[in-house]
Amino acid sequence: MLDELTAALAGILPADSVITDPVRLRTYECDGLTHHRATPGVVVLPETAEQVAAVVRLCREAGVPFVARGSGTGLSGGALPREDGVLIVTSKMRRILEIDLPDRRAVVEPGVTNLAITEAVRDQGYYYAPDPSSQQICSIGGNVAENSGGAHCLKYGFTVNHVEACEIVTPDGDLVTLDRMDPGYDLLGAFVGSEGTLGIATKITVRLSRAPEAVTTVLAAFESIERGGEAVSAIIGAGIVPAAIEMMDALAIEAAEAAVACDYPRGAGAVLIVELDGPAQEVERQFAQLREICSGAFELRVAAGAEERAAIWKGRKSAFAAVGRISPAYIVQDGVVPRTALPRVLAEIDRLSAEHGIRVANVFHAGDGNLHPLVLFDDAEPGAGERAETVSGAILDLCIAHGGSITGEHGVGVDKAKHMPRMFSPDDLDTMQLVRCAFDPARLSNPGKVFPTPRLCGEVPGVRKGAHPLVESGKAEQF
Ligand SMILES: Cc1cc2nc3c(=O)[nH]c(=O)nc-3n(C[C@H](O)[C@H](O)[C@H](O)COP(=O)(O)OP(=O)(O)OC[C@H]3O[C@@H](n4cnc5c(N)ncnc54)[C@H](O)[C@@H]3O)c2cc1C
Repeated sequence: MLDELTAALAGILPADSVITDPVRLRTYECDGLTHHRATPGVVVLPETAEQVAAVVRLCREAGVPFVARGSGTGLSGGALPREDGVLIVTSKMRRILEIDLPDRRAVVEPGVTNLAITEAVRDQGYYYAPDPSSQQICSIGGNVAENSGGAHCLKYGFTVNHVEACEIVTPDGDLVTLDRMDPGYDLLGAFVGSEGTLGIATKITVRLSRAPEAVTTVLAAFESIERGGEAVSAIIGAGIVPAAIEMMDALAIEAAEAAVACDYPRGAGAVLIVELDGPAQEVERQFAQLREICSGAFELRVAAGAEERAAIWKGRKSAFAAVGRISPAYIVQDGVVPRTALPRVLAEIDRLSAEHGIRVANVFHAGDGNLHPLVLFDDAEPGAGERAETVSGAILDLCIAHGGSITGEHGVGVDKAKHMPRMFSPDDLDTMQLVRCAFDPARLSNPGKVFPTPRLCGEVPGVRKGAHPLVESGKAEQF
């Protein structure tokens, strides 16, 4: 089946846009979550939306699954390919098609990197607000699929708040546009964050934001993470909504220091990075309040200009990759807890870490309670990977137990699908499946992601009596 399809794909795509060489295929075997791997059946690199649509139509006719991939920086295994399927990579679709400053919009192809949008409009005083730490490389198509966030999403909102319209290829191979202004159901809202399960974005209209008049970036060093956490609550409690509040614990600081020599204050148990932005007078007033709130910090640095601001951010932005300097392997976890639960959850993570002999470095978007525990282990040590997985899963249980969520911004992908039933009832999951099946009744678009059990579209949602035949035959899992 795949051989015939591959020949047909080569017939509709430009030369060197269909990859079948086993060595080249391995380039695409995983995303940022490297412990899930699968060599794709075939990889295609279309250059236009029409080519994407034609590829999807061929897949649909052949009944072959397909998976979209942007830059492959996802941390949930969302772009994990199928060995029996086609991986559709958008890296040749990198044109910025239109910049419309009066309407504050840009229209871009899905492979355009997040940062490229800001770079295209920065000189005119605009920027694209959602700023994942991977923004130099991750694609806007991937951002849409994961509803990605970033340090500045506390004040400005996530990708979903900055996408005005999406041209998509539906799983049937039709090219349609979902627009924020469309009356009726918010299908664009449903598409954003759907991890490639509802189709492939081929053109994205994003909102551009005006650069703020003033920006003040502060680094506060605390003796302990508890003191830092108290400062976060006090800042929000005072009614200040900073553009960003980020926190790193001692282990994360150690890693960042080893990787990028960020020169954070020595001996800090936690550093807090707070960025205030807006009209100059407001920033000045908030800064005076902030200084008072952070009076317990043993060092307070204020960036004097863009260069010093970049120096403060350097350690935080490199934190995920930096832990590679202090550990041979690690899992980047992503969960959310109510801000007020942060101290309790961090203490519990400490306890788990000690109990299992697994170090955990904590980096987080403290303002919105989005934790990124980095679970460190030595993959050469027998059993260490399993213990790290146990700690990582137990952290998600903690998030749920405290009224939070199993993901803040990295998505569910293949990795967290098994955790979905801990957060949602069977009825919730069935309702989500109905939405999915309305777009993709044949379930060819990124199958195996987000949902724990491959329920079938013809199934009536509701409580099942007895085991599902697929479960009985061992083809599906029941959680
Ligand atoms: C060092 C590092 C730091 C990171 N920091 C952050 C952060 O601060 N915030 C954050 O939110 N994430 C962060 N991430 C995670 C990741 O960068 C984001 O999820 C990003 O949006 C993925 O983009 P991508 O182009 O790499 O997508 P991929 O990994 O290629 O794909 C991700 C998902 O999107 C789907 N997809 C890709 N393109 C399309 C398309 N055109 N249409 C439909 N579906 C598509 C894929 O099928 C997959 O399900 C980080 C990752 C790394 C490695």
